[in-house]
Amino acid sequence: MVRTLETGSDNPILRTQSSPIRKRTRSIKKLARDMKATVKPKGGMGLAAPQVGETVRMILINVPADLYTETGFEECEVNENYLLINPEILWKSTDQSLFEEGCLSLPDYFGQVMRPNRVHFQGEREDGSVIEATAEGMFARILQHEVDHINGILFRDKLHRGAGDSSHAMSYLTPPKTEE
Ligand SMILES: [Zn+2]
Repeated sequence: MVRTLETGSDNPILRTQSSPIRKRTRSIKKLARDMKATVKPKGGMGLAAPQVGETVRMILINVPADLYTETGFEECEVNENYLLINPEILWKSTDQSLFEEGCLSLPDYFGQVMRPNRVHFQGEREDGSVIEATAEGMFARILQHEVDHINGILFRDKLHRGAGDSSHAMSYLTPPKTEE
């Protein structure tokens, strides 16, 4: 089932610290299916459970073919939904790069975000097995964006600021087409 997306910088669901998943209940399995059904038609490269209204630690990573870069992580396949439960980033590289990000929960906003190029992470796969691996490229970037979501952080909070000018970050934003 395609779920309705939670949107908006001030949306309390998107600002909540999500809870760990202790048991793979039927509703957790349904949530996984629904997240997969939701991300592709919306054109997303990733999705976190709070974005569909569930404040639990589940994320999905989907690296599209046109943005595929070497990930160093063999389980990551182009255009495949990669689901992680209770993901944790254990280490981040000091080398970083800028990339323009967007978010299904912030429609019409795009901005340059500086993030570490490589991360070492762990999490649980859908079958309950534990994965611990290092990844780089788009997989690493999307992973960081989605882990931020389950910690109540949106990419807008991290927009790259020009040298000493805090207002500069806003110039990266494309304003919404309609004001509400
Ligand atoms: Zn997002």
